[in-house]
Amino acid sequence: MLFDQLEACGFRSILFTGGEPLAHPRFMQIYENAWQRGFIITIFSNGLLLNNEYKELFLKKRPAYIRISLFGGTAESYKEVTGGDYFTEVINNIIFLHQHKITLKVKMPLLRQNGNDIKNIKQKLESLGISCKIESRIIPRFNGDKEILKFRYTPEEIVGLLTGNRKINMQKLQQISKEPPKKLRTIRYCVEHCQPYVINPDLSLKLCFFIREESVSLREYTLPEAIKYMTRMLETQDDITDESECLKCSRQYMCPYCPGWAKKETGGYNNPIPFLCQLTKLYEEEYSYIQMPSSSELGNGEGEKCQV
Ligand code: SF4
Ligand code: SF4
Repeated sequence: MLFDQLEACGFRSILFTGGEPLAHPRFMQIYENAWQRGFIITIFSNGLLLNNEYKELFLKKRPAYIRISLFGGTAESYKEVTGGDYFTEVINNIIFLHQHKITLKVKMPLLRQNGNDIKNIKQKLESLGISCKIESRIIPRFNGDKEILKFRYTPEEIVGLLTGNRKINMQKLQQISKEPPKKLRTIRYCVEHCQPYVINPDLSLKLCFFIREESVSLREYTLPEAIKYMTRMLETQDDITDESECLKCSRQYMCPYCPGWAKKETGGYNNPIPFLCQLTKLYEEEYSYIQMPSSSELGNGEGEKCQV
């Protein structure tokens, strides 16, 4: 049983994500088993399949938190992004979770289809006390398909859309202030320290959401063996080095760089991501009127885990 192996290896947290985890025919059984073992459980869901059975389950056996992806600020933009007429249903489910005090975060991917209304819904949800984040980080699909980038705003547009609002400025500043001046994750750091392992329903183990090319079957290897084997496969690749142009960058303290993202968008784990370079530069200019904390005030970021 996989959970036995996870326990034996010392893992304490599990994130159920997808696709859509609630669509798995045995999700309830799997969730209950993980919950009874005391795993700290997070669920990433689109909030659509949250039927009464799931609601009852999560009220009795509460996850650490649920993150709902909300794809539009109105029924129209939601439908434009997803093709489905489910905005009201998802909003009702978000409110249900909030009213029943299940720890909840709402993430709203910022796309051309929803850019005009996403701030509005964020404000409405926040006025109810629901934590919301507009996500401007739109990344090519795991299979390398870059179609989604057609709907990503340019860095200039993102800064125009997400700033000019004092509250957002201050949130961003607070986030920056918590970050150390040098925080870049190199691919080697990801392999050796981050290790947010992903296990697919077919029992293949991968390093993380974005590094999926290397994969080891847990049908053939035990979990500790598979981790070692996959780490070796990754370490022997040519581009797994400590070298990266980004390590010389003065803006790395505020750049959400991710080597897996770099690989998907630029073809190499160590390449700067031009979209991020421009976005980070614009943000830095935007905040330059506020004095940044000194590095001694900020501390260092060693041991920081992957937030993706
Ligand atoms: S998601 Fe990105 S930062 Fe996290 S481990 Fe994977 S490549 Fe590294
Ligand atoms: S992606 Fe660009 S901004 Fe980010 S750390 Fe690399 S060089 Fe700097």
